[in-house]
Amino acid sequence: MSEETTDVLVVGGGPGGTPAAMALARAGKRVVLVERGPGLGGTCLFEGCIPSKIFRESARRLRELREADAFGLRMADPEVQVDWAAIQARKRAIIERRSRAALDRARRIPTLSVVFGTAELLSPRSARIKPHTGEVREVGFEQAILAPGSIPVRPPIPGVDLPGVLDSEGILDDERIPERLVVIGGGPIGVELGQVFRTLGSEVHILEIADHILGPVDRELAERLEARMRADGIGITTGCKVGAIEARTPGLQVQAQAAGSEALTLSADTVLLVTGRHPRVEGLGLERTAVRHGPHGIEVDAELQTAEPGIYAVGDAIGHPMFAHWATAQGLALARHLLGMPAAFPRPETNSAVIFSEPELGMAGLTEEEARARGLDVDVARYDYAVDARAQIAARDAGLLKIVYERSRRRVVGVHALVEGAGELMGEAALLVAHGLPVEAVAAAIHPHPTLTESFGQAARNALMTPPGH
Ligand SMILES: Cc1cc2nc3c(=O)[nH]c(=O)nc-3n(C[C@H](O)[C@H](O)[C@H](O)COP(=O)(O)OP(=O)(O)OC[C@H]3O[C@@H](n4cnc5c(N)ncnc54)[C@H](O)[C@@H]3O)c2cc1C
Repeated sequence: MSEETTDVLVVGGGPGGTPAAMALARAGKRVVLVERGPGLGGTCLFEGCIPSKIFRESARRLRELREADAFGLRMADPEVQVDWAAIQARKRAIIERRSRAALDRARRIPTLSVVFGTAELLSPRSARIKPHTGEVREVGFEQAILAPGSIPVRPPIPGVDLPGVLDSEGILDDERIPERLVVIGGGPIGVELGQVFRTLGSEVHILEIADHILGPVDRELAERLEARMRADGIGITTGCKVGAIEARTPGLQVQAQAAGSEALTLSADTVLLVTGRHPRVEGLGLERTAVRHGPHGIEVDAELQTAEPGIYAVGDAIGHPMFAHWATAQGLALARHLLGMPAAFPRPETNSAVIFSEPELGMAGLTEEEARARGLDVDVARYDYAVDARAQIAARDAGLLKIVYERSRRRVVGVHALVEGAGELMGEAALLVAHGLPVEAVAAAIHPHPTLTESFGQAARNALMTPPGH
């Protein structure tokens, strides 16, 4: 085994590890970045954000073609064929392009060494690196950043290992579109993929153990989305426990029990298991260090340091929220901190996120419920997209914006929008909540017409017309 030293070892080349490694190396640190997968990009690029949104884009365009008539476009042959193999090929091409670009950027940094293989800690200051090709190395380091991500939870349901029972990674690589898809888990991934496959022609039924889908998302918006999904023909059963998945000829059968109702039996050719993700802690050699981990993943302090001084962790591996941009924000803040620069570590109450449903559901900061639970006296400015020019033009006017603000200080603490295009609205929303800007500032900003951003100005002006305390 060859021995060498580096300033920083980074384990995991996803959205958490890669930007941190690049930032540190650009500042002159000697960095070794180890990634066990086929390229840089992590779960997000290879089996998460990007492939799921590529499928979603095809589904969105299919829906638009089907609705062309409403826009005065008469198609000679309205039958659109879905070419799944072509969609998969497009997915692979985009992944390849993005991963190659990331590696090219990394290779241009002289003090950054990227190794494709696995890393395992041997002690608090050394690791064994097993490259996919080449000699096993032992690397000593001054500091390490653990960014190994997460793995799908496999619930203890009899039958989860049957052929045809897939996790998100499995379905994103599947060679065909399922005819009958049962989705176990009504979180963001289950909702996004359930809608995509429904639009592409699958019969879809979502089973959720909680009494509503989409967990902590603004309830009113989640309920509106749920109603829309049902109207699109997606079956949704909440408060429902799956008892077993059984093999049938052909296909699978899912046995479930919803509280207070009869047992439910659903036939499927594919069952998608999306009941959450666990931080990945196995195989890292944590037991040879003081690093601690629990049910929420690797434990860190406010500056992302583990219980082992000099070893840090970021991203999915340290638990919720599990988002690519969140992992990147942590990785970049940590890089600044390790370089001795002032670092603003991200705070969950200012995070933003988008569920790429149809229509999109965007959120930044706190919901009304969360704000009140924190003791904040808040009010909500609302805007209905039914009156919005851009939404009407696009025939996407069934939506709602909610701006949550403190009654006395008028500071915006949350923004939640359900409308096609909500994702692009979350940039302004994130800025508002990150800086706690007052609704006056939103009202005073000149938003261009006709765009969905006008909804922010209008909602804020509505709020200003309401005297404090009403
Ligand atoms: C279907 C799906 C859709 C998603 N959609 C979105 C979305 O739209 N927006 C969003 O923000 N987030 C989305 N996410 C979540 C997002 O993918 C993750 O939050 C993000 O990838 C976490 O980044 P990370 O760097 O912490 O971990 P990862 O991206 O998982 O990267 C960790 C890397 O570490 C490597 N690794 C692990 N152990 C070792 C080891 N011992 N040695 C070497 N390498 C190792 C792994 O191979 C992996 O590449 C989605 C996830 C899924 C599954």
